[in-house]
Amino acid sequence: MNEKIDLLKSILKNSRYTVAICGAGLMEEGGFLAVKHQDRAYDIEQRYGYGPEELFTSACYNTRPELFFQFYKKEMLENPPKITASGTAMAAMEKAGLLHCIITSNIYDFPRRSGCSHVINLHGVVYENRCPRCHKDYSLDYVMNSPHIVPLCETCKVPVRPLVSLFGEMVDSQKMTETTVEIAKADTLLLLGTRLDSEVYTPYLRYFNGRSLVIIHSEPHYLDHRADLAIIDHPMDVLPHLV
Ligand SMILES: [Zn+2]
Repeated sequence: MNEKIDLLKSILKNSRYTVAICGAGLMEEGGFLAVKHQDRAYDIEQRYGYGPEELFTSACYNTRPELFFQFYKKEMLENPPKITASGTAMAAMEKAGLLHCIITSNIYDFPRRSGCSHVINLHGVVYENRCPRCHKDYSLDYVMNSPHIVPLCETCKVPVRPLVSLFGEMVDSQKMTETTVEIAKADTLLLLGTRLDSEVYTPYLRYFNGRSLVIIHSEPHYLDHRADLAIIDHPMDVLPHLV
């Protein structure tokens, strides 16, 4: 283990541009299982009569907003993942010049809330909510504490839309482009809490043309051997050793 950490330290030291990609494993180490995770999806389907891939969609938001917000508030907002040492370690790495960009699909804005500055929130963040009609912005607090299940715009009385990517929706094209550009620029790419066959990131990984691909994930995977270095551990137990 120590040998791998030393190797990673030397990779980072010699890397001209390092990009980190944050996957669901970073939420899991904060005590949150993604709603699509099989251990949760079944339970959700039992309770709501629909699976997460039907509930967390624009079709559900548009046609059954009560069901959408009941699910979203209870399952995604009520017990959000806790911030872990991974976030603070990434912020320290960024300050030390060892990390240049952090890309995350987790919608809780951890890297930025932990002090990172160059962050791409690929799927948006729960803190940003907007009226689809008049485009007025609303806080997370407004969504959580609205008197009715469905948070309505004060002026238009239509459901406020969380600015996060729902399942099956196209990702914001500007964010897709930024992500591609950063990955193409990287000399070292760190896959944190995710793997090479990640549904979200695989399409971007083919733009990586750098020297070192490093995976830090608690669950081993058969594709790990394609990385230059794979550390089978929680990122929060590895990253703090790098600064
Ligand atoms: Zn409005």
